[in-house]
Amino acid sequence: MNHSFERITVLGATGSIGVNTLDVIARHPDKYQVFALTAHRNLQLLTEQCLKFQPKFAVITDRQKAESLQEILANHGLDTQVLSSVEDLEIVASHSDVDTVMAAIVGAAGLLPTLAAVKASKKVLLANKEALVMSGSIFMQAVKDSDATLLPIDSEHNAIFQSLPEHFVTDGIKSCGIENIVLTGSGGPFLNKPLNEFSSITPEEACAHPNWDMGRKISVDSATMMNKGLELIEACWMFDVKPADIEVLLHPQSIIHSMVRYKDGSVISQMGNPDMRTPIAHALAFPQRVDAGVAPLDFMQISQLTFDKPCFERYPCLKLAVDSIAKGGNMPTTLNAANEIAVEAFLDEQIGFTQIAEVIQQVLSQTEYAEVADLEAVLTADKESRQLAQKIISEL
Ligand code: NAD
Ligand code: MG
Repeated sequence: MNHSFERITVLGATGSIGVNTLDVIARHPDKYQVFALTAHRNLQLLTEQCLKFQPKFAVITDRQKAESLQEILANHGLDTQVLSSVEDLEIVASHSDVDTVMAAIVGAAGLLPTLAAVKASKKVLLANKEALVMSGSIFMQAVKDSDATLLPIDSEHNAIFQSLPEHFVTDGIKSCGIENIVLTGSGGPFLNKPLNEFSSITPEEACAHPNWDMGRKISVDSATMMNKGLELIEACWMFDVKPADIEVLLHPQSIIHSMVRYKDGSVISQMGNPDMRTPIAHALAFPQRVDAGVAPLDFMQISQLTFDKPCFERYPCLKLAVDSIAKGGNMPTTLNAANEIAVEAFLDEQIGFTQIAEVIQQVLSQTEYAEVADLEAVLTADKESRQLAQKIISEL
């Protein structure tokens, strides 16, 4: 970087990760400058963010809203250029004036812009786990080919990254004397709920996470523990390990964010209050450290740290995810697509909570295994699985 500021595009600026990212950026006006902000529908918040951060570009994927935004910003004397097409997301993610891209769009919609950032050799801060889950080897190959820097924002993967020795990036995790990775998860809001009450769970109950304030899709994923399943797949690709190298552990307090076990008996973990600004600040500043605005961890306030094994009967989505990465090929793509459709249907009150897993299971069992050789195959598998999930839901 031969200029004084790190210039950042925030994809999904109006979401929970986007807002937290801008909070960290605002603490360091001497270091970071916002180059572009993108949103899907939330015109009001995007407008406020543009007025505050004055980016070169803003993208809102709705033509009318884009026109309104352009007018408001011009009236405020800003020369921000407002764009509105899906391709524009790729343009602001790969622009030659950008150093760093926060990939925080939710779901498969984030794949192409995130890949565009990777192919343009950006420093890519990956929150959008679905992008990596659905395209696995193709995504990681693009990282290798472009020499992009990929840094994890998911708190667990960020914790694993922090618990690994520095040389794992060049030598590979297998030569680091590692026994396995311990991926922790809180178990979500229904950790202790009687199983016979699961079918009447409402979207509001599912979105009320005990430790984290997140977007609605990931909140439901946390309640079903599909989130941990997606994270297991994400970790396999990101750290080049097998599912058998990862142990999923319930840790309801969300203080330990994940761990690495070494062959000599050491276990290294990363701890902190459950606040996404910690992994965001870590990745933004890496390898330096900056203030994230996060309250210091008060050990006197933590009465206990507890651990348990996840039970597949309570979390069938976790089992579906574990099986899908073991099978490989198009199965993780199919799992992710079916999950997105099923979660949307649950949030729209078209299906019940327990039907999320049923829909995904049916989509997986009705899909034939296939290799995914290229991006086109990924996009086709994604589209077909969505259609199949819609059909299964309509017939329930
Ligand atoms: P969110 O729903 O709060 O925000 C999603 C963002 O994506 C919004 O800015 C929205 O405008 C944008 N978006 C949605 N659909 C879009 C589309 N079709 N095209 C373009 N933009 C679109 O979600 P979130 O909680 O911020 O999560 C974002 C990503 O980060 C997800 O992949 C999630 O799994 C991951 N993540 C989130 C957290 C968290 O604490 N929230 C933690 C770890 C990982
Ligand atoms: Mg996570």
